[in-house]
Amino acid sequence: MFYRIEIHTHHRNELLDITEEVIKVIKKSNVKNGTVIIFVPHTTAAITINENYDPSVGRDIIDSLARLLPKSVPYAHTEGNADAHIKAALIGSTRTVFLENGEVVFGTWQGIFFCEFDGPRRREVLVKIIPD
Ligand code: ZN
Repeated sequence: MFYRIEIHTHHRNELLDITEEVIKVIKKSNVKNGTVIIFVPHTTAAITINENYDPSVGRDIIDSLARLLPKSVPYAHTEGNADAHIKAALIGSTRTVFLENGEVVFGTWQGIFFCEFDGPRRREVLVKIIPD
């Protein structure tokens, strides 16, 4: 069994801090110690963990990926979102965190980000909580 978090993105490229949504789902599960897998079931979106204290970090990630992978360059995939597929592949579709005494074990400043690369869209994030 796993939980679904519904997400609405508002821009083509966007990093959304979903740390609180993930924590809410963990609290609902009543599991205090274990492993949490966060999975994005989309081919043009991803999940990452990075600094959520200074919002300029997220902007830099989006801007740097845009410089690396321009939208207008010719790609073999002609749907118009090849850049989004490659960004999603680079960042990845899953992250794992640990749960200890009811709290997610984060490093200083870390948070969980949903990465939208072909928005705006309605998306979802799947969360699997495996008790110890
Ligand atoms: Zn496509």
